[in-house]
Order: sequence, then C-alpha cells, then structure tokens
Amino acid sequence: MSKRDYYDVLGVARGADAEEIKKAYRKMAIKYHPDKNPGDKEAEEKFKEAAEAYEVLSNPDKRQRYNQFGHAANAQSANGGGFGGGGMNMEDIFSQFGDIFGGGSPFEGFFGGGRQNGGRRVQRGSNLRIKVRLTLEEIANGTEKKIKVNKQVTCKTCDGTGAKDRSSVQTCKTCGGQGAVRRVTNTILGQMQTTSTCPTCNGEGTVVTAKCTVCHGEGVVRDEELISINIPAGVSEGMQLSMGGKGNAAPRGGIPGDLIILIEEIPHETLKRDGNNVIYDLHVSFIDAALGTNVEVPTIDGKAKIKIDPGTQGGKILRLKGKGVPEVNSYHRGDQLIHINIWTPKALSREERELLEKLQDSPNFKPSPGKNEKSFFERMKEYFE
Ligand SMILES: [Zn+2]
Ligand SMILES: [Zn+2]
Repeated sequence: MSKRDYYDVLGVARGADAEEIKKAYRKMAIKYHPDKNPGDKEAEEKFKEAAEAYEVLSNPDKRQRYNQFGHAANAQSANGGGFGGGGMNMEDIFSQFGDIFGGGSPFEGFFGGGRQNGGRRVQRGSNLRIKVRLTLEEIANGTEKKIKVNKQVTCKTCDGTGAKDRSSVQTCKTCGGQGAVRRVTNTILGQMQTTSTCPTCNGEGTVVTAKCTVCHGEGVVRDEELISINIPAGVSEGMQLSMGGKGNAAPRGGIPGDLIILIEEIPHETLKRDGNNVIYDLHVSFIDAALGTNVEVPTIDGKAKIKIDPGTQGGKILRLKGKGVPEVNSYHRGDQLIHINIWTPKALSREERELLEKLQDSPNFKPSPGKNEKSFFERMKEYFE
C-alpha cells in the first residue's frame, strides 16, 4: 500500500506555513470526524490520514526530515512491520485537538464517545535514543537490526498498574475519578469556575492503596528488550528514524515514548561514500595504463572486473552504473566512480633504470595533451553536477 504525500493529503503547498497547515487540517478533521460519519470506513481512514499528516507537518523537526527523506524518515509502525505503517491511534489524534481547537473545541461533546480516558491525565513515557552503526553494505541493501535496549518496560507482576492486587486500585475520592477538581470562587464579576489537576491522584483518577512490591508502585521496571529495527536502504550518517511506542513505558498504563534511532556510518576499508555515489581510488602502473589491462575492483556487491584501455591517462574516471547507494524511498541508485591514478615507481633497479632511459627520448613518451584531454576540473564537473 503506497502512502500519499502528506502535503497532498492536507491539500497544501510544500511551502505552506504553520497557520495554513493548521487551517487545512482543521477543515479535514471537521469534515471526516467519525462522529459526523458514523460507520463510514472511508471517512475514518481519511480522518486518520489527515491526522498523521498533520502530526508530521506541524512539527518542524519531523517536517524537515519528511521533506528530506519522505515517509521513511518518520514513524515506523510499532510492531516493526515497516515504515510509515500509520502508527497513530485515535487517542493520539484526539490529543492533537487541544492544540487545534483550543479550549472551545467543536468536538467537546464528541469526546465522551471517542475517548476512553475522559479528562484524566495519561502519563507519557520518555523517548529513548539509540545509535545504530551500519556498514556501507548494510546501508546499500537495507537491513534489519536486532538490538538489545535497556529501557523502562511495563511491570509484568502488576501488569503496569503499580498495585499489589486488583482491590488496591481505587477510584480517587478527592476528584471522584475525574482527575481534576473544580473550584468555584466569587469575584466581583460573579462566580468563576476553575479546573485544576487533582492533587491527590496527580490527575490519574485512581490511587493505589497497596503498592506492587516489584516496581514499588511505578508500574514500570528497567529491563532489556530485544527490538528489531528495519533500516531502509540509503540512510546516511546523522539521519534519525523513529519507532512510535518503542521508547520507555509510561508509569501506570500511560502511553509509551518513541525510540529514536540515530544512524552512524562505519567507514568502508576501500570505498568512500559521496552522497549516493561510491568512490574507489584505483592505482595502475604506467605500463598497464600504456598497454591496457583488466583489473578487479571492490564494489558494494563484491568484486567487479573492469577494463583499462591502452593509453589511459591518470585522473580518468570510470563509472559503474547503479553500483552506488540507493536513494531512500526510491528506486534510483547512485553509481560507483573509479578514479584512476597512474603509479610512478619510487625506486628503480639498475636494469629498470637502463630500460627506461632507452625509452626516455622516444617521441611517444613525450606528453602531448590534445584538445580532447579534459582537465581534472572538467571531469569533476561532468560527474558531480
Ligand atoms: Zn484525584
Ligand atoms: Zn509492579
């Protein structure tokens, strides 16, 4: 299933500013809201699609990564089943609305149905950052990395509730489970009603009377988790991928944070990456360059045979098409460029010296660059522009 471009989804230009994006999303959210389109699967999909697009485009960081890398840059679905798997659930979507509609949301009335937690505060686990070091081969082909991550995980003993047993989780008496307390004060303007987080339960709506002895009431414990990460082909140093919900678990059944994966490249022994191209420096003797020869060169996919034509000049660049690194989210693949260096002997035996001296004044050995010999600069322009 191919994902639509986020800008197309919201119907805005790539250069749209934050206000335009917000407006466009608000329009879509009202049009496709599930409570307005009951039982309409297509509307629901559109609603989710718009929410996901807004989630990325409203965040400058995520937007920039999206502009650069497309769908691969953000949001790997929580089960690791590939990138951009639409990791948002309804809870996430509704949590955007505070921002979009402010307090006087036109959906105030709808919330009761769609949202299980009502006004209660749900804790969010922190994001976790890890580095993943990749070889050039792994980058070129894409890879799956299984990594042990030390993180906060849900306590198995209490199932994340933080309580010793079922009966030790009780509705907060102060707020009656609402998570918030209302206070009415008399002012010269009349009665003012303010709402604040319940101080007894910290907005959670429940209190634990006897704590779980394993996690001491937190609902989370430190443990190692083996996480498999799908790395798409073509990533590069400094790029960040994120897996929604794979970060630290939140205390007492909240929403887990994200796992942020920072890409690092392990330098290759002989090949140098330059964007999507791969550069190899080949040294040939001036005799081979004059007579022509076949040589083997390393590539990302193993060795390749190349032909050096008789009369090859130093500085020539040969190209192995499609032997470079693919672009993220694209079928386009860079090339391998082989930069030819002519090796001049640094030491000569007497016999070698005598042989070369015999050739020294031979007319064919005198440099005579013609108009066709491109300068090094011209060749670089040709290949890199
Ligand atoms: Zn309370
Ligand atoms: Zn526990």
